[in-house]
Amino acid sequence: MLSILAAIERVAIQQPQKTAYQTHNASLTYSELWHLSDRLADYLMKLNLRRQQPIVIYGHMSPLQIVAFIGAVKAGHPYVPVDSSTPSERLQLITEASGAGLILTTELLQMQMNLPVMAVHDILDASSKDVILSSATWVQGEDIHYIIYTSGSTGQPKGVQITASNLTHFVMWMQEHFPLQEDGVFLNQAPYSFDLSVMDLYPALVGGHTLYAITQQEIANPKALFDSLATSNTRVWTSTPSFAKMCLMNKEWDQKLMPALDTFLFCGEVLPIAVCNELMLRFPQAIIYNLYGPTETTVAVSYVKVTKELVARFEQLPIAPITEPNVSVAEDGEIIISGPTVSAGYLGAPKLTAKAFPIVDGDRIYQTGDIGYVQDGYLFFSGRKDFQVKLHGYRLEIEEIEKQINNLPPVSSCVVVPVYKEKEIISLSAHIVLREPLTGAAFKTTKQLKALLSAYLPAYMIPKTFKYMDALPLNPNGKVDRKGLAVMETV
Ligand code: AMP
Repeated sequence: MLSILAAIERVAIQQPQKTAYQTHNASLTYSELWHLSDRLADYLMKLNLRRQQPIVIYGHMSPLQIVAFIGAVKAGHPYVPVDSSTPSERLQLITEASGAGLILTTELLQMQMNLPVMAVHDILDASSKDVILSSATWVQGEDIHYIIYTSGSTGQPKGVQITASNLTHFVMWMQEHFPLQEDGVFLNQAPYSFDLSVMDLYPALVGGHTLYAITQQEIANPKALFDSLATSNTRVWTSTPSFAKMCLMNKEWDQKLMPALDTFLFCGEVLPIAVCNELMLRFPQAIIYNLYGPTETTVAVSYVKVTKELVARFEQLPIAPITEPNVSVAEDGEIIISGPTVSAGYLGAPKLTAKAFPIVDGDRIYQTGDIGYVQDGYLFFSGRKDFQVKLHGYRLEIEEIEKQINNLPPVSSCVVVPVYKEKEIISLSAHIVLREPLTGAAFKTTKQLKALLSAYLPAYMIPKTFKYMDALPLNPNGKVDRKGLAVMETV
Protein backbone atom coordinates (compact mmCIF):
# COMPACT_ATOMS: atom_id res chain seq x y z
CA MET A 1 0.00 0.00 0.00
CA LEU A 2 1.02 3.62 -0.49
CA SER A 3 1.74 5.56 2.66
CA ILE A 4 -1.37 6.93 4.37
CA LEU A 5 -0.66 10.44 3.10
CA ALA A 6 0.13 9.31 -0.45
CA ALA A 7 -3.12 7.34 -0.52
CA ILE A 8 -5.14 10.37 0.60
CA GLU A 9 -3.34 12.53 -1.98
CA ARG A 10 -4.36 10.10 -4.69
CA VAL A 11 -8.02 10.47 -3.69
CA ALA A 12 -7.65 14.26 -3.63
CA ILE A 13 -6.32 14.15 -7.21
CA GLN A 14 -8.79 11.61 -8.57
CA GLN A 15 -11.95 12.81 -6.79
CA PRO A 16 -11.26 16.36 -5.61
CA GLN A 17 -14.92 17.27 -5.15
CA LYS A 18 -15.86 14.16 -3.19
CA THR A 19 -16.87 14.86 0.41
CA ALA A 20 -14.20 13.65 2.78
CA TYR A 21 -15.81 14.76 5.99
CA GLN A 22 -19.34 15.63 6.95
CA THR A 23 -21.12 16.64 10.12
CA HIS A 24 -24.72 17.83 10.53
CA ASN A 25 -23.58 21.38 9.79
CA ALA A 26 -20.19 21.33 8.09
CA SER A 27 -18.34 19.49 5.36
CA LEU A 28 -15.00 19.26 3.62
CA THR A 29 -14.02 17.90 0.21
CA TYR A 30 -10.86 15.88 -0.47
CA SER A 31 -9.46 18.82 -2.42
CA GLU A 32 -10.07 21.16 0.52
CA LEU A 33 -8.60 18.66 2.96
CA TRP A 34 -5.48 18.33 0.85
CA HIS A 35 -4.87 21.99 0.11
CA LEU A 36 -5.79 23.38 3.51
CA SER A 37 -3.54 20.83 5.22
CA ASP A 38 -0.69 21.82 2.86
CA ARG A 39 -1.16 25.44 3.89
CA LEU A 40 -1.21 24.52 7.55
CA ALA A 41 1.88 22.32 7.17
CA ASP A 42 3.70 25.14 5.40
CA TYR A 43 2.90 27.44 8.30
CA LEU A 44 3.99 24.85 10.88
CA MET A 45 7.30 24.27 9.15
CA LYS A 46 8.10 27.96 9.33
CA LEU A 47 7.80 27.82 13.13
CA ASN A 48 11.01 25.78 13.26
CA LEU A 49 9.77 23.36 15.87
CA ARG A 50 12.00 20.39 16.65
CA ARG A 51 11.64 17.58 14.07
CA GLN A 52 8.89 15.25 15.39
CA GLN A 53 7.95 17.63 18.21
CA PRO A 54 4.33 16.81 19.09
CA ILE A 55 1.49 19.24 18.38
CA VAL A 56 -1.62 19.14 20.53
CA ILE A 57 -4.84 19.46 18.54
CA TYR A 58 -7.75 20.54 20.68
CA GLY A 59 -11.35 20.47 19.47
CA HIS A 60 -14.38 18.34 18.78
CA MET A 61 -15.52 16.72 15.53
CA SER A 62 -14.72 19.72 13.33
CA PRO A 63 -13.54 19.39 9.71
CA LEU A 64 -10.62 21.65 10.60
CA GLN A 65 -9.45 19.08 13.13
CA ILE A 66 -8.93 16.61 10.30
CA VAL A 67 -7.11 19.34 8.36
CA ALA A 68 -4.92 19.89 11.44
CA PHE A 69 -4.12 16.16 11.83
CA ILE A 70 -3.07 15.87 8.20
CA GLY A 71 -1.27 19.22 8.26
CA ALA A 72 0.76 18.23 11.33
CA VAL A 73 1.93 14.91 9.89
CA LYS A 74 2.73 16.52 6.53
CA ALA A 75 5.05 18.88 8.44
CA GLY A 76 6.64 15.86 10.15
CA HIS A 77 4.99 16.28 13.57
CA PRO A 78 2.95 13.74 15.48
CA TYR A 79 -0.33 15.11 16.72
CA VAL A 80 -1.91 14.62 20.13
CA PRO A 81 -5.70 14.76 19.77
CA VAL A 82 -7.42 16.21 22.83
CA ASP A 83 -11.19 16.42 22.89
CA SER A 84 -12.60 19.73 24.08
CA SER A 85 -14.47 17.93 26.88
CA THR A 86 -11.09 17.34 28.56
CA PRO A 87 -10.72 19.26 31.82
CA SER A 88 -8.14 22.02 32.04
CA GLU A 89 -5.69 20.35 34.43
CA ARG A 90 -5.64 17.22 32.32
CA LEU A 91 -4.97 19.23 29.18
CA GLN A 92 -2.06 20.91 31.03
CA LEU A 93 -0.69 17.52 32.09
CA ILE A 94 -0.91 16.13 28.57
CA THR A 95 0.62 19.22 27.02
CA GLU A 96 3.55 19.19 29.43
CA ALA A 97 4.11 15.44 29.34
CA SER A 98 4.09 15.37 25.53
CA GLY A 99 6.62 18.21 25.22
CA ALA A 100 4.32 19.75 22.63
CA GLY A 101 5.55 22.84 20.82
CA LEU A 102 2.16 24.31 20.20
CA ILE A 103 -1.57 23.83 20.63
CA LEU A 104 -3.78 24.10 17.57
CA THR A 105 -7.43 24.69 18.35
CA THR A 106 -10.64 24.30 16.43
CA GLU A 107 -12.66 25.33 19.43
CA LEU A 108 -12.30 28.12 21.97
CA LEU A 109 -9.73 27.26 24.64
CA GLN A 110 -10.26 29.56 27.54
CA MET A 111 -7.47 28.63 29.90
CA GLN A 112 -3.99 30.12 30.05
CA MET A 113 -1.38 27.75 28.66
CA ASN A 114 2.36 28.19 28.83
CA LEU A 115 2.95 27.51 25.15
CA PRO A 116 1.55 29.09 22.00
CA VAL A 117 -2.12 28.43 21.27
CA MET A 118 -3.31 29.08 17.72
CA ALA A 119 -6.69 28.69 16.08
CA VAL A 120 -6.48 26.61 12.89
CA HIS A 121 -9.01 28.91 11.32
CA ASP A 122 -6.82 32.01 11.92
CA ILE A 123 -3.72 30.31 10.54
CA LEU A 124 -5.56 29.31 7.36
CA ASP A 125 -7.05 32.77 6.97
CA ALA A 126 -3.61 34.33 7.04
CA SER A 127 -1.82 31.68 5.00
CA SER A 128 -0.79 31.89 1.37
CA LYS A 129 -3.25 30.23 -1.02
CA ASP A 130 -0.73 28.73 -3.39
CA VAL A 131 1.53 26.60 -1.27
CA ILE A 132 3.17 23.67 -2.99
CA LEU A 133 4.56 21.29 -0.45
CA SER A 134 6.96 18.45 -1.13
CA SER A 135 6.44 15.07 0.50
CA ALA A 136 9.97 15.15 1.94
CA THR A 137 8.82 16.29 5.38
CA TRP A 138 5.91 13.88 5.76
CA VAL A 139 6.04 11.46 8.69
CA GLN A 140 7.09 8.04 7.48
CA GLY A 141 8.26 4.63 8.68
CA GLU A 142 9.17 4.75 12.35
CA ASP A 143 8.26 8.44 12.74
CA ILE A 144 5.44 8.97 15.20
CA HIS A 145 2.13 9.78 13.50
CA TYR A 146 -0.07 10.33 16.55
CA ILE A 147 0.06 10.07 20.33
CA ILE A 148 -3.10 9.14 22.20
CA TYR A 149 -3.25 9.67 25.94
CA THR A 150 -5.01 7.03 27.94
CA SER A 151 -5.69 6.63 31.66
CA GLY A 152 -2.57 5.71 33.66
CA SER A 153 -2.43 3.86 36.98
CA THR A 154 0.39 6.12 38.24
CA GLY A 155 -2.07 9.00 38.26
CA GLN A 156 -0.65 10.45 35.01
CA PRO A 157 -2.19 9.72 31.62
CA LYS A 158 0.06 7.59 29.36
CA GLY A 159 0.94 8.79 25.85
CA VAL A 160 0.80 5.86 23.41
CA GLN A 161 3.00 6.60 20.38
CA ILE A 162 1.79 5.19 17.07
CA THR A 163 4.21 5.27 14.17
CA ALA A 164 3.43 5.90 10.52
CA SER A 165 4.30 2.26 9.89
CA ASN A 166 1.97 1.02 12.69
CA LEU A 167 -0.89 2.99 11.18
CA THR A 168 -0.22 1.84 7.62
CA HIS A 169 -0.21 -1.79 8.74
CA PHE A 170 -3.42 -1.29 10.66
CA VAL A 171 -5.21 0.28 7.69
CA MET A 172 -3.94 -2.48 5.38
CA TRP A 173 -5.27 -5.07 7.81
CA MET A 174 -8.65 -3.33 7.91
CA GLN A 175 -8.83 -3.21 4.12
CA GLU A 176 -7.92 -6.85 3.83
CA HIS A 177 -10.44 -8.21 6.33
CA PHE A 178 -13.52 -6.00 6.19
CA PRO A 179 -15.83 -4.91 3.38
CA LEU A 180 -14.39 -1.41 3.16
CA GLN A 181 -13.70 -1.09 -0.57
CA GLU A 182 -17.22 -0.54 -1.78
CA ASP A 183 -18.19 3.12 -1.76
CA GLY A 184 -20.22 4.41 1.15
CA VAL A 185 -20.37 6.57 4.22
CA PHE A 186 -18.41 5.64 7.36
CA LEU A 187 -19.77 6.69 10.74
CA ASN A 188 -17.43 8.41 13.17
CA GLN A 189 -18.81 8.29 16.70
CA ALA A 190 -15.71 8.28 18.93
CA PRO A 191 -13.98 11.60 19.64
CA TYR A 192 -10.42 11.73 18.27
CA SER A 193 -8.82 11.39 21.69
CA PHE A 194 -9.94 7.74 21.62
CA ASP A 195 -8.24 5.37 19.26
CA LEU A 196 -11.54 3.83 18.20
CA SER A 197 -11.90 6.95 16.01
CA VAL A 198 -8.84 5.79 14.03
CA MET A 199 -10.81 2.73 12.96
CA ASP A 200 -13.07 4.87 10.80
CA LEU A 201 -10.95 7.96 10.15
CA TYR A 202 -8.05 6.49 8.19
CA PRO A 203 -9.77 3.58 6.41
CA ALA A 204 -12.37 6.12 5.22
CA LEU A 205 -9.85 8.70 3.99
CA VAL A 206 -7.46 6.21 2.43
CA GLY A 207 -10.35 4.51 0.62
CA GLY A 208 -11.80 7.82 -0.61
CA HIS A 209 -15.02 7.43 1.39
CA THR A 210 -17.05 10.04 3.25
CA LEU A 211 -16.71 10.15 7.01
CA TYR A 212 -19.87 11.24 8.81
CA ALA A 213 -19.11 12.49 12.33
CA ILE A 214 -21.67 12.83 15.05
CA THR A 215 -21.04 15.28 17.87
CA GLN A 216 -21.40 14.87 21.63
CA GLN A 217 -24.16 17.47 21.47
CA GLU A 218 -26.15 15.27 19.10
CA ILE A 219 -25.44 12.21 21.23
CA ALA A 220 -26.86 14.04 24.24
CA ASN A 221 -30.04 14.87 22.32
CA PRO A 222 -31.81 11.72 21.04
CA LYS A 223 -33.96 13.52 18.49
CA ALA A 224 -30.95 15.27 16.96
CA LEU A 225 -28.94 12.05 17.06
CA PHE A 226 -31.47 9.91 15.21
CA ASP A 227 -32.25 12.68 12.71
CA SER A 228 -28.55 12.87 12.03
CA LEU A 229 -28.16 9.09 11.72
CA ALA A 230 -31.15 8.93 9.38
CA THR A 231 -29.70 11.50 7.00
CA SER A 232 -26.10 10.26 7.26
CA ASN A 233 -26.53 7.43 4.72
CA THR A 234 -24.06 5.41 6.80
CA ARG A 235 -22.89 2.11 5.34
CA VAL A 236 -20.11 1.24 7.81
CA TRP A 237 -20.84 1.74 11.49
CA THR A 238 -17.98 1.91 14.00
CA SER A 239 -18.70 2.40 17.69
CA THR A 240 -18.35 0.90 21.11
CA PRO A 241 -20.95 -1.73 21.98
CA SER A 242 -22.14 0.71 24.69
CA PHE A 243 -23.08 3.28 22.08
CA ALA A 244 -25.05 0.71 20.05
CA LYS A 245 -26.76 -0.40 23.24
CA MET A 246 -27.82 3.16 23.88
CA CYS A 247 -29.15 3.47 20.32
CA LEU A 248 -31.11 0.22 20.71
CA MET A 249 -33.19 1.91 23.42
CA ASN A 250 -34.86 3.78 20.58
CA LYS A 251 -37.24 1.36 18.92
CA GLU A 252 -36.99 3.26 15.63
CA TRP A 253 -33.30 2.60 15.21
CA ASP A 254 -33.37 -0.06 12.52
CA GLN A 255 -32.68 -0.84 8.88
CA LYS A 256 -35.59 1.35 7.79
CA LEU A 257 -33.96 4.36 9.44
CA MET A 258 -30.52 3.45 8.09
CA PRO A 259 -31.13 1.50 4.85
CA ALA A 260 -27.50 1.65 3.64
CA LEU A 261 -26.02 0.18 6.82
CA ASP A 262 -24.40 -3.17 6.05
CA THR A 263 -21.36 -3.40 8.38
CA PHE A 264 -21.04 -3.00 12.13
CA LEU A 265 -17.51 -2.76 13.52
CA PHE A 266 -17.41 -2.99 17.31
CA CYS A 267 -14.35 -2.72 19.48
CA GLY A 268 -13.14 -1.57 22.86
CA GLU A 269 -15.15 -3.65 25.32
CA VAL A 270 -17.16 -6.84 25.63
CA LEU A 271 -19.77 -7.09 22.88
CA PRO A 272 -22.78 -8.69 24.59
CA ILE A 273 -24.60 -11.45 22.70
CA ALA A 274 -27.92 -9.83 23.58
CA VAL A 275 -26.84 -6.71 21.68
CA CYS A 276 -25.89 -8.83 18.65
CA ASN A 277 -29.20 -10.70 18.69
CA GLU A 278 -31.15 -7.46 18.70
CA LEU A 279 -28.98 -5.95 15.95
CA MET A 280 -29.49 -9.04 13.78
CA LEU A 281 -33.25 -8.59 14.09
CA ARG A 282 -33.23 -4.89 13.42
CA PHE A 283 -30.55 -4.80 10.71
CA PRO A 284 -31.02 -7.98 8.70
CA GLN A 285 -28.71 -6.74 5.92
CA ALA A 286 -25.78 -6.01 8.19
CA ILE A 287 -22.77 -8.09 9.18
CA ILE A 288 -21.47 -7.63 12.72
CA TYR A 289 -17.78 -7.87 13.62
CA ASN A 290 -16.33 -8.06 17.13
CA LEU A 291 -12.84 -6.54 16.98
CA TYR A 292 -10.31 -6.67 19.76
CA GLY A 293 -7.23 -4.64 20.59
CA PRO A 294 -5.79 -1.93 22.81
CA THR A 295 -4.60 1.57 21.87
CA GLU A 296 -1.04 0.25 22.39
CA THR A 297 -1.26 -1.98 19.32
CA THR A 298 -3.08 0.49 17.04
CA VAL A 299 -6.80 0.12 17.54
CA ALA A 300 -7.46 -3.56 16.79
CA VAL A 301 -5.53 -6.70 15.94
CA SER A 302 -8.11 -9.47 15.72
CA TYR A 303 -11.79 -10.04 15.07
CA VAL A 304 -14.55 -12.55 14.74
CA LYS A 305 -17.51 -12.29 12.40
CA VAL A 306 -20.63 -12.64 14.53
CA THR A 307 -22.83 -15.28 12.97
CA LYS A 308 -26.09 -16.84 14.19
CA GLU A 309 -24.15 -20.06 14.66
CA LEU A 310 -21.55 -18.34 16.85
CA VAL A 311 -24.09 -16.64 19.13
CA ALA A 312 -25.99 -19.90 19.51
CA ARG A 313 -22.83 -21.83 20.36
CA PHE A 314 -21.22 -19.67 23.05
CA GLU A 315 -22.37 -17.72 26.09
CA GLN A 316 -19.85 -15.03 25.36
CA LEU A 317 -18.39 -13.93 22.05
CA PRO A 318 -14.79 -14.82 21.25
CA ILE A 319 -12.34 -12.05 20.33
CA ALA A 320 -10.11 -13.96 17.90
CA PRO A 321 -9.68 -17.31 16.22
CA ILE A 322 -6.63 -19.11 17.65
CA THR A 323 -5.08 -18.99 14.19
CA GLU A 324 -4.60 -15.21 14.59
CA PRO A 325 -0.82 -14.90 14.26
CA ASN A 326 -0.23 -11.79 16.38
CA VAL A 327 -2.36 -12.67 19.41
CA SER A 328 -1.40 -15.35 21.92
CA VAL A 329 -1.98 -16.29 25.54
CA ALA A 330 0.95 -16.61 27.95
CA GLU A 331 1.13 -19.35 30.56
CA ASP A 332 -0.32 -17.11 33.23
CA GLY A 333 -3.30 -16.33 30.97
CA GLU A 334 -2.21 -12.85 29.87
CA ILE A 335 -2.96 -11.93 26.26
CA ILE A 336 0.20 -10.95 24.38
CA ILE A 337 0.21 -9.04 21.11
CA SER A 338 3.05 -8.99 18.61
CA GLY A 339 3.45 -7.79 15.04
CA PRO A 340 3.83 -4.60 13.04
CA THR A 341 1.17 -2.58 14.85
CA VAL A 342 2.79 -2.74 18.30
CA SER A 343 3.36 0.86 19.44
CA ALA A 344 6.75 2.51 19.85
CA GLY A 345 5.89 2.72 23.58
CA TYR A 346 4.76 5.39 26.03
CA LEU A 347 6.17 8.83 25.34
CA GLY A 348 8.73 9.93 27.91
CA ALA A 349 8.15 6.86 30.10
CA PRO A 350 10.98 4.38 29.42
CA LYS A 351 10.32 2.30 32.55
CA LEU A 352 6.64 1.87 31.84
CA THR A 353 7.49 1.11 28.23
CA ALA A 354 10.10 -1.51 29.11
CA LYS A 355 7.65 -3.22 31.44
CA ALA A 356 4.68 -3.33 29.09
CA PHE A 357 6.61 -3.74 25.82
CA PRO A 358 9.40 -6.27 26.37
CA ILE A 359 11.65 -7.19 23.45
CA VAL A 360 11.37 -10.87 22.53
CA ASP A 361 13.61 -12.30 19.81
CA GLY A 362 14.41 -8.78 18.67
CA ASP A 363 10.76 -7.70 18.36
CA ARG A 364 8.75 -5.49 20.66
CA ILE A 365 5.64 -7.20 21.98
CA TYR A 366 2.85 -5.83 24.14
CA GLN A 367 1.64 -7.41 27.36
CA THR A 368 -1.98 -6.31 27.36
CA GLY A 369 -2.92 -6.97 30.99
CA ASP A 370 -6.00 -8.71 29.55
CA ILE A 371 -6.69 -12.26 30.64
CA GLY A 372 -7.78 -14.73 28.01
CA TYR A 373 -8.49 -18.39 27.53
CA VAL A 374 -8.75 -20.69 24.55
CA GLN A 375 -11.77 -22.85 23.83
CA ASP A 376 -13.00 -24.61 20.68
CA GLY A 377 -10.50 -22.87 18.43
CA TYR A 378 -11.21 -19.36 19.71
CA LEU A 379 -9.67 -16.90 22.14
CA PHE A 380 -11.98 -15.43 24.78
CA PHE A 381 -11.50 -12.37 26.97
CA SER A 382 -12.15 -12.99 30.65
CA GLY A 383 -11.03 -9.86 32.49
CA ARG A 384 -7.98 -7.91 33.62
CA LYS A 385 -4.83 -8.56 35.63
CA ASP A 386 -5.00 -5.07 37.11
CA PHE A 387 -7.50 -2.38 38.05
CA GLN A 388 -8.19 -1.16 34.53
CA VAL A 389 -11.90 -1.22 33.68
CA LYS A 390 -14.18 -0.32 30.83
CA LEU A 391 -17.17 1.78 31.76
CA HIS A 392 -19.65 2.68 28.99
CA GLY A 393 -16.82 2.01 26.54
CA TYR A 394 -14.28 4.27 28.30
CA ARG A 395 -10.95 2.88 29.46
CA LEU A 396 -10.25 3.85 33.07
CA GLU A 397 -7.54 3.09 35.58
CA ILE A 398 -9.21 2.91 38.99
CA GLU A 399 -5.89 3.87 40.57
CA GLU A 400 -5.73 7.12 38.60
CA ILE A 401 -9.19 8.06 39.85
CA GLU A 402 -8.23 7.18 43.43
CA LYS A 403 -5.06 9.26 43.22
CA GLN A 404 -6.99 12.30 42.03
CA ILE A 405 -9.61 11.90 44.78
CA ASN A 406 -6.87 11.42 47.37
CA ASN A 407 -5.26 14.68 46.21
CA LEU A 408 -8.39 16.68 47.07
CA PRO A 409 -7.75 18.65 50.28
CA PRO A 410 -10.81 17.37 52.25
CA VAL A 411 -9.96 13.70 51.56
CA SER A 412 -7.83 11.54 53.82
CA SER A 413 -8.11 8.25 51.93
CA CYS A 414 -10.28 6.64 49.34
CA VAL A 415 -10.95 3.51 47.35
CA VAL A 416 -13.00 3.27 44.17
CA VAL A 417 -14.82 0.10 43.17
CA PRO A 418 -16.79 -0.79 40.07
CA VAL A 419 -20.50 -1.44 40.50
CA TYR A 420 -21.56 -4.59 38.64
CA LYS A 421 -24.98 -5.52 37.31
CA GLU A 422 -25.25 -8.91 35.60
CA LYS A 423 -21.45 -9.09 35.18
CA GLU A 424 -21.33 -5.67 33.53
CA ILE A 425 -19.84 -2.55 35.13
CA ILE A 426 -22.57 0.07 35.25
CA SER A 427 -20.89 2.77 37.38
CA LEU A 428 -18.13 3.50 39.88
CA SER A 429 -18.51 4.04 43.58
CA ALA A 430 -15.99 5.97 45.71
CA HIS A 431 -15.55 5.09 49.39
CA ILE A 432 -14.02 8.03 51.15
CA VAL A 433 -12.57 8.83 54.53
CA LEU A 434 -12.61 12.60 55.09
CA ARG A 435 -10.01 14.55 57.07
CA GLU A 436 -12.77 16.22 59.09
CA PRO A 437 -15.94 14.32 59.99
CA LEU A 438 -18.98 15.16 57.89
CA THR A 439 -20.86 18.07 59.38
CA GLY A 440 -23.70 18.83 56.97
CA ALA A 441 -25.56 16.70 54.47
CA ALA A 442 -23.43 14.15 52.62
CA PHE A 443 -24.79 15.19 49.23
CA LYS A 444 -23.36 18.69 49.72
CA THR A 445 -19.88 17.31 50.35
CA THR A 446 -20.28 15.05 47.33
CA LYS A 447 -21.25 17.99 45.16
CA GLN A 448 -18.23 19.93 46.38
CA LEU A 449 -15.82 17.03 45.83
CA LYS A 450 -17.21 16.29 42.36
CA ALA A 451 -16.80 19.95 41.41
CA LEU A 452 -13.16 19.92 42.59
CA LEU A 453 -12.52 16.67 40.76
CA SER A 454 -13.94 17.93 37.48
CA ALA A 455 -10.87 20.15 36.98
CA TYR A 456 -8.71 17.02 36.83
CA LEU A 457 -10.84 14.20 35.49
CA PRO A 458 -13.20 13.97 32.52
CA ALA A 459 -16.84 13.43 33.46
CA TYR A 460 -16.72 9.72 32.55
CA MET A 461 -14.00 9.12 35.16
CA ILE A 462 -15.84 10.71 38.08
CA PRO A 463 -17.53 8.06 40.27
CA LYS A 464 -21.30 8.23 40.34
CA THR A 465 -21.70 7.62 44.05
CA PHE A 466 -19.58 8.83 46.98
CA LYS A 467 -19.88 7.04 50.30
CA TYR A 468 -18.30 8.29 53.49
CA MET A 469 -16.73 6.00 56.07
CA ASP A 470 -14.76 6.39 59.31
CA ALA A 471 -12.14 3.98 57.99
CA LEU A 472 -11.70 1.86 54.88
CA PRO A 473 -12.46 -1.82 55.53
CA LEU A 474 -9.38 -4.08 55.53
CA ASN A 475 -9.05 -7.73 54.54
CA PRO A 476 -7.17 -10.24 56.73
CA ASN A 477 -3.90 -9.26 54.98
CA GLY A 478 -4.30 -5.70 56.15
CA LYS A 479 -5.01 -4.39 52.64
CA VAL A 480 -8.08 -2.41 51.69
CA ASP A 481 -10.84 -4.94 51.11
CA ARG A 482 -11.69 -4.07 47.50
CA LYS A 483 -13.40 -7.40 46.93
CA GLY A 484 -15.63 -6.98 49.95
CA LEU A 485 -16.61 -3.49 48.84
CA ALA A 486 -17.21 -4.70 45.28
CA VAL A 487 -19.53 -7.48 46.48
CA MET A 488 -21.38 -4.91 48.54
CA GLU A 489 -21.81 -2.79 45.41
CA THR A 490 -23.15 -5.55 43.14
CA VAL A 491 -26.74 -4.72 42.17
P1 AMP B 1 -8.57 0.81 24.45
O1 AMP B 1 -7.11 1.04 24.56
O2 AMP B 1 -9.38 1.95 24.97
O3 AMP B 1 -8.97 0.40 23.07
O4 AMP B 1 -8.91 -0.39 25.42
C1 AMP B 1 -8.33 -1.64 25.21
C2 AMP B 1 -8.93 -2.66 26.12
O5 AMP B 1 -10.33 -2.79 25.87
C3 AMP B 1 -8.39 -4.05 25.89
O6 AMP B 1 -7.14 -4.23 26.53
C4 AMP B 1 -9.49 -4.90 26.49
O7 AMP B 1 -9.41 -4.91 27.90
C5 AMP B 1 -10.75 -4.13 26.08
N1 AMP B 1 -11.29 -4.65 24.82
C6 AMP B 1 -11.04 -4.20 23.58
N2 AMP B 1 -11.76 -4.89 22.66
C7 AMP B 1 -12.48 -5.81 23.33
C8 AMP B 1 -13.42 -6.84 22.96
N3 AMP B 1 -13.79 -7.03 21.70
N4 AMP B 1 -13.94 -7.60 23.94
C9 AMP B 1 -13.58 -7.42 25.24
N5 AMP B 1 -12.72 -6.46 25.65
C10 AMP B 1 -12.17 -5.66 24.72
